[in-house]
Amino acid sequence: MFKYSNSKDWFEIIKYKDYLYVIRERLDEIDPRFYTSYTNLYLVVGSHSALLVDTGSGLFPLKPVISDLILDKRLIVINTHSHFDHIGGNNEFDGVLIHKKECKEISKSCDILFLKDSSNEIVKLYERTNYTLPPANNIQSIKDEDTIDLGELSVKIIHTPGHSRGSISLLTNRNELFTGDTAHYGTMYLTKKTFPIVLSSISKLLDLFQESKIEVYPSHEEFAVGKELLVELSNGIKNIDKIWDTKVRDDFLEAWILSDEYFKYAIF
Ligand SMILES: [Zn+2]
Ligand SMILES: [Zn+2]
Repeated sequence: MFKYSNSKDWFEIIKYKDYLYVIRERLDEIDPRFYTSYTNLYLVVGSHSALLVDTGSGLFPLKPVISDLILDKRLIVINTHSHFDHIGGNNEFDGVLIHKKECKEISKSCDILFLKDSSNEIVKLYERTNYTLPPANNIQSIKDEDTIDLGELSVKIIHTPGHSRGSISLLTNRNELFTGDTAHYGTMYLTKKTFPIVLSSISKLLDLFQESKIEVYPSHEEFAVGKELLVELSNGIKNIDKIWDTKVRDDFLEAWILSDEYFKYAIF
């Protein structure tokens, strides 16, 4: 009945490195009104444990997909933040880690009624839960500088607020940086009053890598990009005031839309 009928059709799984999988969903196939093509979930596999970064939209079962990839290794699930496109599959897993400032958001069901009038039929799959995403089980809070040991691989939490209060980035001991929605190409969602907070979070990330080479893995659009993403975004945000006259109102998002050379911005 729908263009996609199961997890296999829906998720695109890319084994990008021996220990790193990119699991992609088409956000525009759910609702094109977000001006975003892809949501990227990541799976980092260490010698004894694996870390799943975000659980996506919840449209199709994610846990069997992950189980097939990690076999009997222990799985740790973490959310970069609590927006609907990152937490939809939380309820399938035994537990979820999230920054302490957003524990509350994932402990209750999440209303996604705003998707109901999407032009895409696939959202009708959400009818089975009345356009809500169920709450996570066993929520554990994490904070800046916590480290998660996966065996040979470890991942450090960096609190990067701005996009949301509890947004985190994650850095592996092999210099992969997962930025969540703090920095990605495509459409950046920002609130004018949080510009200084976002800018200081981006500086915090840039300060970590003055010399070293890193690869950036954002939660939307292109992945494995260079740290110039952070520089371009920082410059772009600082320039928004200068292009403010070019803004166009978006009634669905209830936001102003602007663009520059590298990004589109939805400003709330
Ligand atoms: Zn978000
Ligand atoms: Zn997002």
